Amino acid sequence: MTTNAIEADVCVVGAGFAGLTAARRLQQAGKSVVVLEARDRVGGRTWTEEHAGCAIDRGGAWLSPRHDAAFELAREVGVSTYKTYVAGRHLLVGDGRIRRYKGLIPKISPLAVAQIGWVQLRLDQMARQVPVEAPWRARRAAEWDSFSVGRWLDDHRIRSKIGNDLFQMAVRGLFAAADMSDVSFLDLLFLIRAHHRIEDLFSIEGGAQETLIQGGMGAFAGRVATELGDAVQLESPVRSVAQRGDHVVVGSMGASVTARFVVLAIPPVLNLEIAFDPALPEERRTLLRHAVAGHETKSILVYDQPFWRSDGLSGQSAEPGSPSEVTIDASPADGSAGALASFTFGYVAKQFDSLDRPERRRMLLDVLSGRFGPKAATPVHFVETAWFTEPWSCGCSFAHLPPGIWTRFGPLLRQPYGRVHWAGTETATVSHGAVDGAIRSGERVAEEIVTRSADRALTTT
Ligand SMILES: Cc1cc2nc3c(=O)[nH]c(=O)nc-3n(C[C@H](O)[C@H](O)[C@H](O)COP(=O)(O)OP(=O)(O)OC[C@H]3O[C@@H](n4cnc5c(N)ncnc54)[C@H](O)[C@@H]3O)c2cc1C
Repeated sequence: MTTNAIEADVCVVGAGFAGLTAARRLQQAGKSVVVLEARDRVGGRTWTEEHAGCAIDRGGAWLSPRHDAAFELAREVGVSTYKTYVAGRHLLVGDGRIRRYKGLIPKISPLAVAQIGWVQLRLDQMARQVPVEAPWRARRAAEWDSFSVGRWLDDHRIRSKIGNDLFQMAVRGLFAAADMSDVSFLDLLFLIRAHHRIEDLFSIEGGAQETLIQGGMGAFAGRVATELGDAVQLESPVRSVAQRGDHVVVGSMGASVTARFVVLAIPPVLNLEIAFDPALPEERRTLLRHAVAGHETKSILVYDQPFWRSDGLSGQSAEPGSPSEVTIDASPADGSAGALASFTFGYVAKQFDSLDRPERRRMLLDVLSGRFGPKAATPVHFVETAWFTEPWSCGCSFAHLPPGIWTRFGPLLRQPYGRVHWAGTETATVSHGAVDGAIRSGERVAEEIVTRSADRALTTT
Protein backbone atom coordinates (compact mmCIF):
# COMPACT_ATOMS: atom_id res chain seq x y z
CA MET A 1 0.00 0.00 0.00
CA THR A 2 1.32 3.48 -0.85
CA THR A 3 1.50 5.97 1.98
CA ASN A 4 -0.05 9.34 1.41
CA ALA A 5 2.11 12.17 2.84
CA ILE A 6 -0.10 14.97 4.15
CA GLU A 7 0.64 18.24 5.95
CA ALA A 8 -1.89 20.02 8.14
CA ASP A 9 -1.97 22.30 11.15
CA VAL A 10 -3.75 19.64 13.19
CA CYS A 11 -4.24 15.89 12.79
CA VAL A 12 -7.35 14.61 14.56
CA VAL A 13 -7.49 10.89 15.29
CA GLY A 14 -11.02 9.46 15.51
CA ALA A 15 -14.20 10.61 13.74
CA GLY A 16 -16.63 10.18 16.60
CA PHE A 17 -18.46 13.29 17.81
CA ALA A 18 -15.38 14.49 19.74
CA GLY A 19 -13.02 14.30 16.76
CA LEU A 20 -15.56 15.65 14.26
CA THR A 21 -16.40 18.61 16.50
CA ALA A 22 -12.72 19.37 17.20
CA ALA A 23 -12.02 19.34 13.45
CA ARG A 24 -15.04 21.55 12.72
CA ARG A 25 -14.12 24.17 15.33
CA LEU A 26 -10.44 24.14 14.25
CA GLN A 27 -11.44 24.62 10.60
CA GLN A 28 -13.72 27.46 11.64
CA ALA A 29 -10.71 29.04 13.39
CA GLY A 30 -8.76 28.90 10.11
CA LYS A 31 -6.65 25.79 10.80
CA SER A 32 -6.05 23.11 8.22
CA VAL A 33 -7.16 19.75 9.57
CA VAL A 34 -7.02 16.09 8.62
CA VAL A 35 -9.14 13.50 10.46
CA LEU A 36 -7.95 9.90 10.47
CA GLU A 37 -10.66 7.34 11.27
CA ALA A 38 -10.05 3.61 11.66
CA ARG A 39 -13.51 2.43 10.62
CA ASP A 40 -15.18 2.65 7.23
CA ARG A 41 -17.75 5.04 8.70
CA VAL A 42 -17.83 8.09 10.97
CA GLY A 43 -19.74 8.34 14.27
CA GLY A 44 -17.80 5.90 16.47
CA ARG A 45 -20.05 4.83 19.33
CA THR A 46 -23.01 6.30 17.41
CA TRP A 47 -24.05 4.23 14.40
CA THR A 48 -27.27 4.42 12.44
CA GLU A 49 -28.58 1.96 9.86
CA GLU A 50 -31.76 2.08 7.77
CA HIS A 51 -34.05 -0.94 7.93
CA ALA A 52 -37.44 -0.89 6.22
CA GLY A 53 -37.30 2.91 6.10
CA CYS A 54 -36.61 3.08 9.82
CA ALA A 55 -33.39 4.68 11.10
CA ILE A 56 -31.93 2.37 13.73
CA ASP A 57 -29.44 3.65 16.27
CA ARG A 58 -27.16 0.77 17.21
CA GLY A 59 -25.23 3.01 19.64
CA GLY A 60 -25.77 6.41 21.31
CA ALA A 61 -29.19 7.81 20.41
CA TRP A 62 -30.76 10.11 23.00
CA LEU A 63 -30.22 13.68 24.15
CA SER A 64 -31.26 15.27 27.41
CA PRO A 65 -32.69 18.82 27.58
CA ARG A 66 -29.39 19.83 29.25
CA HIS A 67 -27.33 18.80 26.21
CA ASP A 68 -26.94 22.38 24.94
CA ALA A 69 -23.74 21.75 22.94
CA ALA A 70 -25.36 18.90 21.01
CA PHE A 71 -28.52 20.92 20.30
CA GLU A 72 -26.39 23.84 19.10
CA LEU A 73 -24.33 21.61 16.77
CA ALA A 74 -27.54 19.97 15.48
CA ARG A 75 -28.93 23.43 14.72
CA GLU A 76 -25.71 24.43 12.91
CA VAL A 77 -25.76 21.44 10.59
CA GLY A 78 -29.53 21.46 10.10
CA VAL A 79 -30.47 18.29 11.97
CA SER A 80 -33.84 18.18 13.73
CA THR A 81 -34.97 16.32 16.82
CA TYR A 82 -38.16 14.83 18.28
CA LYS A 83 -39.34 13.63 21.67
CA THR A 84 -39.30 9.98 22.72
CA TYR A 85 -42.83 8.52 22.89
CA VAL A 86 -43.89 8.27 26.54
CA ALA A 87 -47.69 8.19 26.54
CA GLY A 88 -49.31 5.12 28.06
CA ARG A 89 -48.27 2.82 30.83
CA HIS A 90 -44.79 1.50 31.55
CA LEU A 91 -44.12 -2.06 32.69
CA LEU A 92 -42.04 -3.43 35.55
CA VAL A 93 -41.58 -7.19 35.57
CA GLY A 94 -40.44 -9.06 38.66
CA ASP A 95 -41.61 -11.10 41.65
CA GLY A 96 -43.62 -13.22 39.20
CA ARG A 97 -45.88 -10.40 38.04
CA ILE A 98 -46.11 -7.47 35.64
CA ARG A 99 -46.80 -4.07 37.18
CA ARG A 100 -48.27 -1.36 34.94
CA TYR A 101 -47.65 2.21 36.01
CA LYS A 102 -47.58 5.83 34.84
CA GLY A 103 -45.00 8.48 35.61
CA LEU A 104 -41.66 7.84 37.27
CA ILE A 105 -42.56 5.60 40.17
CA PRO A 106 -43.51 1.95 39.70
CA LYS A 107 -46.07 0.33 42.01
CA ILE A 108 -43.70 -1.26 44.47
CA SER A 109 -43.99 -0.99 48.23
CA PRO A 110 -44.22 2.61 49.53
CA LEU A 111 -41.31 1.82 51.86
CA ALA A 112 -39.09 0.79 48.93
CA VAL A 113 -40.12 3.90 46.97
CA ALA A 114 -39.26 6.11 49.97
CA GLN A 115 -35.95 4.32 50.43
CA ILE A 116 -34.96 4.73 46.75
CA GLY A 117 -35.91 8.42 46.99
CA TRP A 118 -33.76 8.83 50.09
CA VAL A 119 -30.76 7.01 48.57
CA GLN A 120 -30.95 9.13 45.41
CA LEU A 121 -31.16 12.30 47.48
CA ARG A 122 -28.04 11.27 49.46
CA LEU A 123 -26.17 10.57 46.21
CA ASP A 124 -27.17 13.95 44.76
CA GLN A 125 -26.07 15.71 47.96
CA MET A 126 -22.65 14.04 47.91
CA ALA A 127 -22.28 14.64 44.15
CA ARG A 128 -22.79 18.37 44.69
CA GLN A 129 -19.55 18.34 46.70
CA VAL A 130 -17.57 17.02 43.70
CA PRO A 131 -16.04 19.75 41.49
CA VAL A 132 -16.94 18.68 37.95
CA GLU A 133 -13.65 20.01 36.52
CA ALA A 134 -11.53 18.26 39.16
CA PRO A 135 -13.23 15.42 41.09
CA TRP A 136 -9.93 14.63 42.83
CA ARG A 137 -10.22 17.98 44.64
CA ALA A 138 -13.45 17.09 46.46
CA ARG A 139 -12.92 17.41 50.21
CA ARG A 140 -13.80 13.72 50.65
CA ALA A 141 -12.20 12.56 47.37
CA ALA A 142 -9.69 10.20 49.04
CA GLU A 143 -12.47 8.51 51.05
CA TRP A 144 -14.91 8.22 48.11
CA ASP A 145 -12.17 6.94 45.80
CA SER A 146 -11.15 4.24 48.30
CA PHE A 147 -14.20 1.98 47.78
CA SER A 148 -16.42 0.81 44.95
CA VAL A 149 -19.96 1.47 43.81
CA GLY A 150 -20.55 -2.27 44.34
CA ARG A 151 -19.70 -1.96 48.04
CA TRP A 152 -21.85 1.14 48.44
CA LEU A 153 -24.83 -0.60 46.79
CA ASP A 154 -24.36 -3.61 49.12
CA ASP A 155 -24.37 -1.26 52.12
CA HIS A 156 -27.52 0.51 50.91
CA ARG A 157 -29.79 -2.33 49.88
CA ILE A 158 -33.44 -1.45 49.27
CA ARG A 159 -35.71 -3.53 51.55
CA SER A 160 -37.85 -5.00 48.78
CA LYS A 161 -36.41 -7.47 46.29
CA ILE A 162 -37.91 -5.87 43.21
CA GLY A 163 -36.98 -2.38 44.46
CA ASN A 164 -33.39 -3.43 45.10
CA ASP A 165 -33.10 -5.25 41.77
CA LEU A 166 -34.47 -2.22 39.95
CA PHE A 167 -32.18 0.30 41.65
CA GLN A 168 -29.08 -1.88 41.29
CA MET A 169 -29.83 -2.46 37.61
CA ALA A 170 -30.30 1.27 37.01
CA VAL A 171 -26.90 2.07 38.57
CA ARG A 172 -25.23 -0.89 36.81
CA GLY A 173 -26.72 0.43 33.54
CA LEU A 174 -24.87 3.73 33.96
CA PHE A 175 -21.45 2.05 33.75
CA ALA A 176 -22.29 -1.40 32.31
CA ALA A 177 -19.36 -2.76 34.34
CA ALA A 178 -19.34 -6.57 34.57
CA ASP A 179 -18.38 -6.20 38.22
CA MET A 180 -19.49 -3.08 40.08
CA SER A 181 -16.53 -3.43 42.45
CA ASP A 182 -14.48 -2.18 39.45
CA VAL A 183 -16.12 1.25 39.62
CA SER A 184 -14.96 3.86 42.11
CA PHE A 185 -17.70 5.46 44.21
CA LEU A 186 -16.09 8.82 43.33
CA ASP A 187 -16.68 7.97 39.64
CA LEU A 188 -20.41 7.59 40.34
CA LEU A 189 -20.60 10.89 42.23
CA PHE A 190 -18.66 12.65 39.45
CA LEU A 191 -21.02 11.19 36.81
CA ILE A 192 -24.07 12.38 38.74
CA ARG A 193 -22.53 15.85 39.08
CA ALA A 194 -21.73 15.91 35.36
CA HIS A 195 -25.44 15.24 34.63
CA HIS A 196 -26.92 17.40 37.38
CA ARG A 197 -28.91 14.75 39.32
CA ILE A 198 -29.11 10.97 39.29
CA GLU A 199 -32.75 11.14 38.24
CA ASP A 200 -31.71 13.03 35.09
CA LEU A 201 -29.56 10.03 34.11
CA PHE A 202 -32.42 7.57 34.62
CA SER A 203 -35.34 9.55 33.16
CA ILE A 204 -36.93 9.85 29.76
CA GLU A 205 -39.02 13.01 30.25
CA GLY A 206 -36.70 15.80 31.36
CA GLY A 207 -33.77 13.40 31.39
CA ALA A 208 -31.12 11.59 29.38
CA GLN A 209 -33.58 9.75 27.11
CA GLU A 210 -35.95 12.60 26.26
CA THR A 211 -35.00 13.42 22.66
CA LEU A 212 -34.10 11.49 19.50
CA ILE A 213 -32.53 12.72 16.26
CA GLN A 214 -34.51 12.65 12.99
CA GLY A 215 -32.68 10.12 10.83
CA GLY A 216 -30.64 8.90 13.79
CA MET A 217 -27.50 10.01 15.61
CA GLY A 218 -25.33 8.54 12.83
CA ALA A 219 -26.99 10.86 10.30
CA PHE A 220 -26.08 13.77 12.60
CA ALA A 221 -22.41 12.68 12.71
CA GLY A 222 -22.54 12.16 8.94
CA ARG A 223 -23.74 15.73 8.43
CA VAL A 224 -20.83 17.12 10.49
CA ALA A 225 -18.39 14.93 8.51
CA THR A 226 -19.83 16.01 5.15
CA GLU A 227 -19.17 19.63 6.00
CA LEU A 228 -15.52 18.72 6.72
CA GLY A 229 -15.22 17.47 3.12
CA ASP A 230 -11.97 15.74 2.12
CA ALA A 231 -10.47 16.31 5.56
CA VAL A 232 -11.94 13.02 6.79
CA GLN A 233 -10.06 9.87 5.78
CA LEU A 234 -11.77 6.58 6.57
CA GLU A 235 -10.11 3.18 7.06
CA SER A 236 -7.01 4.88 8.42
CA PRO A 237 -6.23 3.35 11.81
CA VAL A 238 -3.45 5.31 13.46
CA ARG A 239 -0.53 3.18 14.63
CA SER A 240 2.14 5.73 15.60
CA VAL A 241 2.59 9.25 16.92
CA ALA A 242 6.13 10.65 16.85
CA GLN A 243 6.89 14.07 18.31
CA ARG A 244 9.77 15.80 16.51
CA GLY A 245 10.63 19.29 17.81
CA ASP A 246 8.10 21.68 16.25
CA HIS A 247 5.88 19.03 14.68
CA VAL A 248 4.27 15.62 15.10
CA VAL A 249 4.23 12.77 12.59
CA VAL A 250 1.12 10.62 12.75
CA GLY A 251 1.31 7.27 10.97
CA SER A 252 -1.77 5.38 9.86
CA MET A 253 -2.23 2.48 7.48
CA GLY A 254 -2.60 4.72 4.44
CA ALA A 255 -1.24 8.11 5.45
CA SER A 256 1.62 9.87 7.17
CA VAL A 257 0.46 13.22 8.49
CA THR A 258 2.90 15.93 9.57
CA ALA A 259 1.11 18.42 11.79
CA ARG A 260 1.74 21.02 14.49
CA PHE A 261 -0.54 19.23 16.90
CA VAL A 262 -2.39 15.97 17.14
CA VAL A 263 -5.74 15.41 18.86
CA LEU A 264 -6.46 11.87 20.04
CA ALA A 265 -10.25 11.62 20.17
CA ILE A 266 -10.50 7.86 20.77
CA PRO A 267 -11.60 5.69 23.72
CA PRO A 268 -8.81 5.87 26.37
CA VAL A 269 -7.73 2.23 26.33
CA LEU A 270 -7.17 2.33 22.54
CA ASN A 271 -4.32 4.83 23.05
CA LEU A 272 -2.30 1.90 24.35
CA GLU A 273 -2.33 0.37 20.86
CA ILE A 274 -0.52 3.38 19.38
CA ALA A 275 3.31 3.50 19.38
CA PHE A 276 4.29 6.84 20.91
CA ASP A 277 7.76 8.30 20.42
CA PRO A 278 8.78 9.39 22.97
CA ALA A 279 6.82 6.75 24.89
CA LEU A 280 3.94 7.85 27.13
CA PRO A 281 4.97 8.25 30.76
CA GLU A 282 4.13 5.31 33.04
CA GLU A 283 1.49 7.27 35.04
CA ARG A 284 -0.50 8.00 31.89
CA ARG A 285 -0.25 4.41 30.74
CA THR A 286 -1.54 3.27 34.12
CA LEU A 287 -4.49 5.64 33.81
CA LEU A 288 -5.29 4.44 30.27
CA ARG A 289 -5.00 0.77 31.25
CA HIS A 290 -7.62 1.22 33.96
CA ALA A 291 -10.06 3.31 31.92
CA VAL A 292 -12.05 0.41 30.47
CA ALA A 293 -15.65 0.57 29.30
CA GLY A 294 -18.29 -1.99 30.17
CA HIS A 295 -20.45 -4.67 28.57
CA GLU A 296 -23.69 -3.42 27.08
CA THR A 297 -25.72 -5.02 24.34
CA LYS A 298 -28.29 -2.94 22.52
CA SER A 299 -30.82 -4.72 20.33
CA ILE A 300 -33.31 -2.99 18.10
CA LEU A 301 -36.50 -4.75 17.10
CA VAL A 302 -38.34 -3.20 14.19
CA TYR A 303 -42.08 -3.85 13.67
CA ASP A 304 -44.54 -2.72 11.00
CA GLN A 305 -46.16 -0.52 13.64
CA PRO A 306 -45.54 0.52 17.24
CA PHE A 307 -48.29 -1.97 18.21
CA TRP A 308 -47.81 -1.49 21.96
CA ARG A 309 -49.12 2.07 21.69
CA SER A 310 -52.62 0.94 20.72
CA ASP A 311 -52.50 -1.45 23.71
CA GLY A 312 -52.03 1.59 25.97
CA LEU A 313 -48.33 0.96 26.56
CA SER A 314 -45.41 3.37 26.22
CA GLY A 315 -42.86 0.72 25.20
CA GLN A 316 -40.84 1.51 28.33
CA SER A 317 -40.27 -1.61 30.41
CA ALA A 318 -37.83 -3.07 32.93
CA GLU A 319 -37.04 -6.60 34.07
CA PRO A 320 -33.74 -6.69 35.97
CA GLY A 321 -31.51 -9.67 35.14
CA SER A 322 -33.52 -10.73 32.06
CA PRO A 323 -32.40 -10.91 28.39
CA SER A 324 -34.14 -7.55 27.98
CA GLU A 325 -33.46 -5.55 31.13
CA VAL A 326 -34.85 -2.30 29.74
CA THR A 327 -36.83 -1.34 26.65
CA ILE A 328 -37.60 2.11 25.29
CA ASP A 329 -39.69 3.15 22.30
CA ALA A 330 -37.22 4.27 19.60
CA SER A 331 -39.72 4.51 16.72
CA PRO A 332 -39.46 7.22 14.06
CA ALA A 333 -41.20 10.52 14.86
CA ASP A 334 -44.17 9.84 12.57
CA GLY A 335 -44.77 6.36 14.01
CA SER A 336 -44.58 4.92 10.47
CA ALA A 337 -42.80 1.87 11.93
CA GLY A 338 -42.30 0.57 15.45
CA ALA A 339 -38.85 0.24 16.98
CA LEU A 340 -38.11 -1.06 20.46
CA ALA A 341 -34.60 -0.54 21.82
CA SER A 342 -33.71 -3.31 24.27
CA PHE A 343 -30.68 -3.33 26.59
CA THR A 344 -28.68 -5.60 28.86
CA PHE A 345 -25.92 -4.24 31.08
CA GLY A 346 -22.72 -5.44 32.74
CA TYR A 347 -22.69 -9.03 33.98
CA VAL A 348 -26.13 -9.70 32.47
CA ALA A 349 -24.92 -8.57 29.01
CA LYS A 350 -21.78 -10.67 29.42
CA GLN A 351 -23.84 -13.74 30.35
CA PHE A 352 -26.24 -13.42 27.41
CA ASP A 353 -23.50 -12.52 24.92
CA SER A 354 -21.86 -15.88 25.66
CA LEU A 355 -24.90 -17.73 24.19
CA ASP A 356 -25.10 -18.29 20.47
CA ARG A 357 -27.07 -15.80 18.42
CA PRO A 358 -30.24 -17.87 17.65
CA GLU A 359 -30.53 -18.78 21.35
CA ARG A 360 -30.15 -15.13 22.41
CA ARG A 361 -32.74 -14.04 19.88
CA ARG A 362 -35.18 -16.73 20.98
CA MET A 363 -34.81 -15.78 24.65
CA LEU A 364 -35.20 -12.08 23.90
CA LEU A 365 -38.36 -12.59 21.81
CA ASP A 366 -39.80 -14.88 24.51
CA VAL A 367 -39.44 -12.28 27.26
CA LEU A 368 -40.73 -9.47 25.05
CA SER A 369 -43.80 -11.52 24.07
CA GLY A 370 -44.46 -12.17 27.76
CA ARG A 371 -44.32 -8.42 28.33
CA PHE A 372 -45.94 -6.90 25.23
CA GLY A 373 -47.97 -9.80 23.83
CA PRO A 374 -47.50 -12.19 20.87
CA LYS A 375 -46.94 -9.41 18.28
CA ALA A 376 -43.56 -8.83 19.90
CA ALA A 377 -42.40 -12.26 18.69
CA THR A 378 -42.37 -11.31 15.00
CA PRO A 379 -40.19 -8.26 14.34
CA VAL A 380 -39.49 -7.49 10.69
CA HIS A 381 -35.89 -6.70 11.64
CA PHE A 382 -33.69 -7.57 14.55
CA VAL A 383 -30.30 -5.92 14.98
CA GLU A 384 -28.05 -6.43 17.99
CA THR A 385 -24.71 -4.88 18.85
CA ALA A 386 -22.46 -6.18 21.61
CA TRP A 387 -20.26 -3.14 22.08
CA PHE A 388 -17.56 -4.90 24.08
CA THR A 389 -16.62 -6.86 20.98
CA GLU A 390 -16.42 -3.80 18.72
CA PRO A 391 -12.63 -3.48 18.26
CA TRP A 392 -12.59 0.31 17.75
CA SER A 393 -14.80 0.94 20.80
CA CYS A 394 -13.89 -1.81 23.28
CA GLY A 395 -16.96 -1.32 25.42
CA CYS A 396 -19.96 0.79 26.19
CA SER A 397 -21.06 3.48 26.81
CA PHE A 398 -17.89 5.07 28.21
CA ALA A 399 -14.89 4.11 30.32
CA HIS A 400 -15.20 3.88 34.11
CA LEU A 401 -12.40 4.14 36.65
CA PRO A 402 -11.78 1.67 39.51
CA PRO A 403 -11.06 2.85 43.07
CA GLY A 404 -7.80 4.76 43.50
CA ILE A 405 -7.38 5.99 39.92
CA TRP A 406 -9.23 9.33 39.97
CA THR A 407 -7.27 10.66 42.92
CA ARG A 408 -3.88 9.44 41.66
CA PHE A 409 -4.11 10.09 37.93
CA GLY A 410 -7.30 12.15 37.30
CA PRO A 411 -5.41 15.38 36.47
CA LEU A 412 -3.74 13.60 33.50
CA LEU A 413 -7.04 12.93 31.69
CA ARG A 414 -7.00 16.23 29.78
CA GLN A 415 -3.34 17.20 30.24
CA PRO A 416 -1.50 17.52 26.89
CA TYR A 417 1.72 15.56 26.39
CA GLY A 418 3.95 17.85 24.35
CA ARG A 419 2.02 18.42 21.10
CA VAL A 420 -0.43 15.61 21.80
CA HIS A 421 -3.87 16.69 23.07
CA TRP A 422 -6.75 14.50 24.17
CA ALA A 423 -10.50 14.74 23.53
CA GLY A 424 -13.33 12.23 23.74
CA THR A 425 -16.32 11.87 26.03
CA GLU A 426 -14.09 10.37 28.73
CA THR A 427 -12.24 13.71 28.97
CA ALA A 428 -15.51 15.66 29.31
CA THR A 429 -16.68 17.28 32.51
CA VAL A 430 -20.28 18.38 31.84
CA SER A 431 -22.24 15.52 30.16
CA HIS A 432 -19.34 13.11 30.74
CA GLY A 433 -19.93 9.84 28.88
CA ALA A 434 -22.60 11.23 26.55
CA VAL A 435 -22.60 12.55 22.98
CA ASP A 436 -22.95 16.06 24.40
CA GLY A 437 -19.80 15.45 26.49
CA ALA A 438 -17.94 14.27 23.38
CA ILE A 439 -18.97 17.44 21.52
CA ARG A 440 -17.92 19.64 24.45
CA SER A 441 -14.56 17.86 24.64
CA GLY A 442 -14.01 18.57 20.92
CA GLU A 443 -14.77 22.24 21.49
CA ARG A 444 -12.46 22.38 24.53
CA VAL A 445 -9.53 20.79 22.69
CA ALA A 446 -9.97 23.06 19.63
CA GLU A 447 -9.83 26.09 21.91
CA GLU A 448 -6.72 24.71 23.65
CA ILE A 449 -4.92 24.33 20.33
CA VAL A 450 -6.02 27.69 18.93
CA THR A 451 -4.71 29.33 22.11
CA ARG A 452 -1.42 27.42 21.91
CA SER A 453 -1.00 28.22 18.22
CA ALA A 454 -1.25 31.89 19.05
CA ASP A 455 1.83 31.43 21.23
CA ARG A 456 4.60 32.09 18.67
CA ALA A 457 7.30 30.57 20.85
CA LEU A 458 5.49 27.23 20.73
CA THR A 459 4.80 27.20 17.02
CA THR A 460 8.45 27.79 16.13
CA THR A 461 10.20 25.46 18.58
C1 LIG B 1 -25.03 1.25 23.03
C2 LIG B 1 -24.70 2.68 23.38
C3 LIG B 1 -25.70 3.51 23.80
C4 LIG B 1 -25.42 4.84 24.13
N1 LIG B 1 -26.45 5.66 24.42
C5 LIG B 1 -26.23 6.97 24.49
C6 LIG B 1 -27.31 7.89 24.48
O1 LIG B 1 -28.47 7.50 24.34
N2 LIG B 1 -27.02 9.22 24.59
C7 LIG B 1 -25.74 9.68 24.67
O2 LIG B 1 -25.54 10.90 24.77
N3 LIG B 1 -24.70 8.84 24.65
C8 LIG B 1 -24.90 7.51 24.52
N4 LIG B 1 -23.85 6.65 24.40
C9 LIG B 1 -22.49 7.18 24.54
C10 LIG B 1 -22.05 7.96 23.29
O3 LIG B 1 -22.34 7.21 22.14
C11 LIG B 1 -20.57 8.28 23.41
O4 LIG B 1 -20.34 9.03 24.58
C12 LIG B 1 -20.02 9.12 22.27
O5 LIG B 1 -20.48 8.67 21.03
C13 LIG B 1 -18.50 9.08 22.32
O6 LIG B 1 -17.96 9.89 21.31
P1 LIG B 1 -16.39 10.06 21.18
O7 LIG B 1 -16.15 10.88 19.97
O8 LIG B 1 -15.81 10.49 22.47
O9 LIG B 1 -15.82 8.57 20.96
P2 LIG B 1 -16.17 7.51 19.83
O10 LIG B 1 -17.56 7.68 19.35
O11 LIG B 1 -15.77 6.19 20.37
O12 LIG B 1 -15.20 7.91 18.62
C14 LIG B 1 -13.87 7.50 18.58
C15 LIG B 1 -13.51 7.17 17.13
O13 LIG B 1 -12.13 6.86 17.08
C16 LIG B 1 -11.95 5.78 16.17
N5 LIG B 1 -10.66 5.17 16.51
C17 LIG B 1 -10.34 4.42 17.59
N6 LIG B 1 -9.02 4.09 17.55
C18 LIG B 1 -8.52 4.66 16.43
C19 LIG B 1 -7.22 4.70 15.84
N7 LIG B 1 -6.16 4.10 16.38
N8 LIG B 1 -7.06 5.37 14.67
C20 LIG B 1 -8.10 6.01 14.07
N9 LIG B 1 -9.35 6.02 14.60
C21 LIG B 1 -9.55 5.34 15.76
C22 LIG B 1 -13.17 4.90 16.40
O14 LIG B 1 -13.40 4.07 15.29
C23 LIG B 1 -14.25 5.95 16.59
O15 LIG B 1 -14.88 6.29 15.38
C24 LIG B 1 -24.09 5.32 24.06
C25 LIG B 1 -23.07 4.49 23.64
C26 LIG B 1 -23.36 3.18 23.27
C27 LIG B 1 -22.24 2.31 22.75
